[in-house]
Amino acid sequence: MSASRPPSLRVAVGLALCFTLASWPDLERLTGSRLPGLPAIGSALAQTLPDPAWPDLEPAFASHVCPPSERQLEPRNAAERARFEMRARYRTVMPAFYAKVGPEPDAALRMPVEGVRVAQVTDTWHAPRGGGRLHEGQDIFAPRGTPVRSATAGFVYRIDDLSLGGLSVTVIGDGYRRYFYTHLEAVPPALREGQRVTTDTVIGFVGASGNAAGTPPHLHLGVYGGDPWACEWRALDPLPLLVDRD
Ligand SMILES: [Zn+2]
Repeated sequence: MSASRPPSLRVAVGLALCFTLASWPDLERLTGSRLPGLPAIGSALAQTLPDPAWPDLEPAFASHVCPPSERQLEPRNAAERARFEMRARYRTVMPAFYAKVGPEPDAALRMPVEGVRVAQVTDTWHAPRGGGRLHEGQDIFAPRGTPVRSATAGFVYRIDDLSLGGLSVTVIGDGYRRYFYTHLEAVPPALREGQRVTTDTVIGFVGASGNAAGTPPHLHLGVYGGDPWACEWRALDPLPLLVDRD
């Protein structure tokens, strides 16, 4: 029977098998880092916890469960549903990241885009955007592929390409601040969720992915604070905090 199977199908079966084998260690890793109490079903969707080699500075956060988000809307389509579900999964591990960081937020953010000075950034905080939205961040323009380094020390909370912003990396730093880097062209293949980063760590490369398609390549930098026990996302203006690297 197998001799009569079309070649394309054989390739497909072979690829599927390769994928299964190659992804098994990852599944084990994810299952191993699963939060206690989460059901085993769907464990492949469990999010990655921060690197356990780092101590919990505030252990009370490690067992905290985020209250339901007040702003959670009903999804209007499949893409939005996928985004909301992903957000909810990440939310389950956010307090575990809070447990690893110090309570005082960084007073200064190092310029994340290589070769750009803070004085070159045009202030677009709360500029009107489509759909009645305000611009909740700053755009830092640079040639496509320019390295982006973390503006703070912290832990990689999320790497994804499902958000409106395109390919993005979110880092959680001291003071439970979340630093959102998006429209990236690429992310270093070795970068992992849960990984500890410093201001020397390259976390991505400037691009125009997501809703920046068709615009000149730039990094969108968002900074979020808010009550950590409520797991709030309250946007802050990054510009007054940005400093040059030299
Ligand atoms: Zn932007």
